[in-house]
Amino acid sequence: MNMAQKLIDEVESAGGVVQVDGGRLKLSAPAPLPDDLVQKLRDHKPEVIEFLATSKGGNLPVLPPLVPNISARPFGFPTDSVDWAEWIEERAAILEFDGYRSPREALKSAYNEALEAWCSQHWEAPPADSCAACGAPNPGFACGDGAAVCQRPDHACLIGYGTRRKQAAIERLRQVGIGAA
Ligand SMILES: [Zn+2]
Repeated sequence: MNMAQKLIDEVESAGGVVQVDGGRLKLSAPAPLPDDLVQKLRDHKPEVIEFLATSKGGNLPVLPPLVPNISARPFGFPTDSVDWAEWIEERAAILEFDGYRSPREALKSAYNEALEAWCSQHWEAPPADSCAACGAPNPGFACGDGAAVCQRPDHACLIGYGTRRKQAAIERLRQVGIGAA
């Protein structure tokens, strides 16, 4: 497990949430988090932001492809939405069984995992010779999926690209009737 995932897990175990908001890490928790945890989050801020922006990490099970061969049925509606809905439900049940998440949190996590799984199977990363967010040449930061973005202090390109990637998955799942949890 990488450091970003570990820190996020620690925050979640304490009932808190880590989010990215305009290039800044936003922490919310029912009670103040331990100082050393907050400090570690500060120290590893870029990693945590990248992790949240691309939702990389976690050991995702292999999912059935959402659209196994879209070119084979250009007019058809994807038929395997049931598989995805079932997968999300099952995953949510496992997460809930594993502990600390409320049913709603478990469903949300499962849905986010499904988005990432869809991206890892279907998202085609743009060529790394220009920024995947703003198009500037020779970007300095490799995203991990083959794309690259500008290295900026506010991580705007990284977050912008991560959002676009995730949005594509949200749209795709919505098309087969699976909405945001
Ligand atoms: Zn850029």
